[in-house]
Amino acid sequence: MHLKRLEMMGFKSFADKTELEFVPGITAVVGPNGSGKSNVTDGIRWVLGEQSAKSLRGSKMEDVIFAGSDSRKPVGFCEVSITFDNADKKLNLDYSEVTVTRRVYRSGESEYLLNRQPCRLKDITELFMDTGIGKEAYSMIGQGRIDDILSTKSEDRRAIFEEAAGIVKYKSRKKEAEKKLDATEQNLARLNDLVLELK
Ligand code: ATP
Repeated sequence: MHLKRLEMMGFKSFADKTELEFVPGITAVVGPNGSGKSNVTDGIRWVLGEQSAKSLRGSKMEDVIFAGSDSRKPVGFCEVSITFDNADKKLNLDYSEVTVTRRVYRSGESEYLLNRQPCRLKDITELFMDTGIGKEAYSMIGQGRIDDILSTKSEDRRAIFEEAAGIVKYKSRKKEAEKKLDATEQNLARLNDLVLELK
């Protein structure tokens, strides 16, 4: 599995549709200060579900929409799509290419798409679990991230190893099952109370 393509439209400094193709090997993005290099990585994190405006260097989520320039009006929505080659079926979907899209409007309305079909953020998060790809995963190392990793609590550092070991999805399923069990136990207790009242 490898990253093939990134498409951005109306995202941060990319007012027009911008397409970046990533061929196998190393790709370097170069450009003057303020030309939008970091906006490219912000786009990747955003499409994978980043919810924190601050970590995308804004103050509110609307800040990711092109806000206009001296020569251009602001736009009303933005869209980012990321495409992975999935010939090796590392992503658990029966497609040789997987495209994830996120769109957001100034009104606040937003949607996620998986191969152009609407889906939930949860579907995307689960799809990439244990692959190292994700808004918090180790495939994206931002400025200062190594320092963060070294200075965080050992439990937080452990999460990185768990992702690499491929056990995150099992932990997440266990948590969901425990939640359901808990709800069922509460229902059972309520039922027992009702039975006692009826006796
Ligand atoms: P450096 O080399 O200094 O780190 P960079 O190439 O990484 O710079 P970015 O930080 O990616 O550049 O881009 C910053 C530019 O993006 C700024 O000019 C800023 O005005 C522009 N920008 C950010 N958000 C928006 C937005 N919503 N609308 C329009 N332009 C935006």
